[in-house]
Amino acid sequence: MRMLPDYFNAKQAGILESIQQVVEIETPSYNASQNAVMVDWFEAETRRISADFQIERIFAENLGAHFIIRAFPSNEKPVLLLGHTDTVHPIGTISKNPTRIEGGKFYGCGIFDMKANCVLILEILRAFVELNIQPTRPITILLSCDEEIGSPTGRALVEREALKSEFCFVCEPSAGGKVKTGRKGTASYTLKTHGVPAHAGLEPEKGASAILEIARQIEKLNALNDLQKGTTVNVCQINGGTASNVIPETAECSIDVRFTSMTEAKRIEKEIKTLQNFDERVSIEISGEINRPPLERTKDVVHLYEKARQVALKSGFELGETQVGGASDGNFVGALGVPVLDGLGIAGDGAHTLDEFIFTSDIPKRAALLAGILLAN
Ligand SMILES: [Zn+2]
Repeated sequence: MRMLPDYFNAKQAGILESIQQVVEIETPSYNASQNAVMVDWFEAETRRISADFQIERIFAENLGAHFIIRAFPSNEKPVLLLGHTDTVHPIGTISKNPTRIEGGKFYGCGIFDMKANCVLILEILRAFVELNIQPTRPITILLSCDEEIGSPTGRALVEREALKSEFCFVCEPSAGGKVKTGRKGTASYTLKTHGVPAHAGLEPEKGASAILEIARQIEKLNALNDLQKGTTVNVCQINGGTASNVIPETAECSIDVRFTSMTEAKRIEKEIKTLQNFDERVSIEISGEINRPPLERTKDVVHLYEKARQVALKSGFELGETQVGGASDGNFVGALGVPVLDGLGIAGDGAHTLDEFIFTSDIPKRAALLAGILLAN
């Protein structure tokens, strides 16, 4: 264990090179051909590390493929490492945020969330092979291709592998160096309104505005926020109307909901699904559902955190934990009662923005931490 930090420091140049390669293969969700290039990269690299690892590709229509590695088989129950290869950045974003290192910050599209961490996972496998270390448990790695869009096909796989595992480490980005011991759950809904069009100048009284109806509903939705309980309800997108001089016939908005308990999730869902129209000439239609359940800070989660904290202390730093509003696939795992520790990735900032970066100095530190945790559990 003691040699791990030195090992990863010595490997830094090669790791930076791999991260650059992976980041420069742009992989927005729903781009199956780009995802295939990405998975090819991971498969080739995995085979270079060891011919003994079991590799599996699970194809997902229009999305690409989920990638599974099974390493170091034994009679023990495996540990599951989760990651995802998709990003939120459309093709071409690389020209706005070129992959580069400036002042110890490594910038790139999806580098922080979470391509660098996918590379990190492989580097840990490489370390175990090259240093001839047998980890405590078999390691299953699942890199899914649809996490950023709510895991429509990845979820079933995440749950399948989680149920076979003793516990799960999610390699999503670290929050300022801390791991994540709690995450809010998420739900999303669409509210569509259908009114009556009319000329805005000649006979506006004959019209019933779909946009006005949405505006009134937004006030109601906003009132559902309960910051004390951690419940948030936000209309984040709105669309409507056909021309600047026509009373709008149609409009729609998307509603983002976050919660810390399923009781809250169900309460809000009921409120949203039973919204009544203000103007009887405008019909309203609501679709959507609860997506990810909250990841709760259970005793098991705290126990995993404590163990990780001890590993960090031995390397001379205080790990720290935090609870965040963003959900991950770890939420699905936690809901099954499988202990999860999330946010084990590299520290940086700017997830989902053009300023996304990781700290290069954190790479060997996080690699040694995750490897150390795998040896301690
Ligand atoms: Zn992510």
